Amino acid sequence: MRAWVIRSTGGLERLELAQVPDPPSTLRSTDVRVALRAAALNHLDLFVVRGLPHEYQFPHILGGDGAGVVAAVGPDVRSVRPGDRVMINPGIADYTCEYCRAGEHSLCLSYRLLGEHLPGTIAEAIVVPEPNVAIIPTLQAPLSWAEAAAFSLVTLTAWRMVVTRAQVQPGETVLVWGIGGGASLAAMRIAKLRGARVIVTSSSDEKLEHAKRLGADATLNHRTQKVSQEVRVLTEKRGADVVIENVGEATWDESLRSLRRGGRLVSCGATSGPKVGIDLRRLFWYQWSILGATMGNLAEYREIVRVLGTGELRPIIDQVFPFSEAREALGRLDRAEQLGKIAVSIAE
Ligand SMILES: [Zn+2]
Repeated sequence: MRAWVIRSTGGLERLELAQVPDPPSTLRSTDVRVALRAAALNHLDLFVVRGLPHEYQFPHILGGDGAGVVAAVGPDVRSVRPGDRVMINPGIADYTCEYCRAGEHSLCLSYRLLGEHLPGTIAEAIVVPEPNVAIIPTLQAPLSWAEAAAFSLVTLTAWRMVVTRAQVQPGETVLVWGIGGGASLAAMRIAKLRGARVIVTSSSDEKLEHAKRLGADATLNHRTQKVSQEVRVLTEKRGADVVIENVGEATWDESLRSLRRGGRLVSCGATSGPKVGIDLRRLFWYQWSILGATMGNLAEYREIVRVLGTGELRPIIDQVFPFSEAREALGRLDRAEQLGKIAVSIAE
């Protein structure tokens, strides 16, 4: 089959459309083989190309998010059949360890992500465990393959941050950094669904305008405005109840300065760097909660698919690239030009 791979880490020039072996044709009892129709990109793909500190199996197939048609199932698979249209949850757990048994699959001792630790979705086919596929909900305006592919990773990540970890309540104020990113955009929409008031930031006024049309209550340009000061103004000096972080070093201090007493900060990423400082006196005096989040568990995944079926949280697509142009697609993500998800069409 054809797939986008790297044979060594480095820059985007390492990306190569290659002929690689098909996934194994003999499926384990609970495996599902999917003929992929579209993949969607995440910042993680850029980190993978540049090199993460774990062992790669080269040639490594990129891509975490994908959707397609079930081509074959193992003998014990019950929830899907060949021909079903499915989207893929890229977080692969072992479904046996202590955390999996407790229902916390993204804490699994051997948690792995498609396209990072395992062969990815920018390929013509993939094999995943049954719990990692979900039938694409039927909507009045059917989801495109690109939309279905773009749904899982960021929506699951944002749901766990906003609903499970921060437990955002109606009427609370939520600050979301970098609204161009898929997880940030999903977090904003989920916080709005929860009845919160959402302040979003970007360095691009154009993206802020777009975010307003998508439901943002207030927008801040973090290049030209001091975010924490503006948040104080917008909250009558109180500060935000919740801050949604995935930027890291560049925004951390401002995130803490934006929090109210007793506020919660949730982090799911560190795109600008992982090392941050904290004044413990402020942490205990203001009684902040600092929460981590990664992906989500199967119950959360089922819940977001259910919500998608009600017509909410339909992915916002920035642009769809043909399969032959996956490198250009990653280039657009790398230059942070997008608002919403960048997808790659694999087949019709
Ligand atoms: Zn496990």
